Amino acid sequence: MTPERRWMVGIEEIRTISLECNECKVRLSYSPDEMIDLPQTCPNSLCRSVWNPPNTKAAPTEFDAPASVRLLRAIDRVKQEKRAIEANSTLRQGFRILLGFDER
Ligand SMILES: [Zn+2]
Repeated sequence: MTPERRWMVGIEEIRTISLECNECKVRLSYSPDEMIDLPQTCPNSLCRSVWNPPNTKAAPTEFDAPASVRLLRAIDRVKQEKRAIEANSTLRQGFRILLGFDER
């Protein structure tokens, strides 16, 4: 049996969220504590590929957003809720989410 080593990381341990362009690989990095203003196009002026098409629906709902956008919002909410839970212990959940990564 081969032992597997994995990094287990909680959402509150995320230090950087990076968005990488699929075309030119340029990256924008954010602290998870800052509100991510997702650009509609790649910030590289030589690329400008579409990152986040504008929603054409008149009244877009939360579920109209692509999963990657919803994930960014969810990470932000988890961190906001953590602060609320720290202030009010009756809201405390009996678990936390851990994300696993293979060691490189
Ligand atoms: Zn690009």
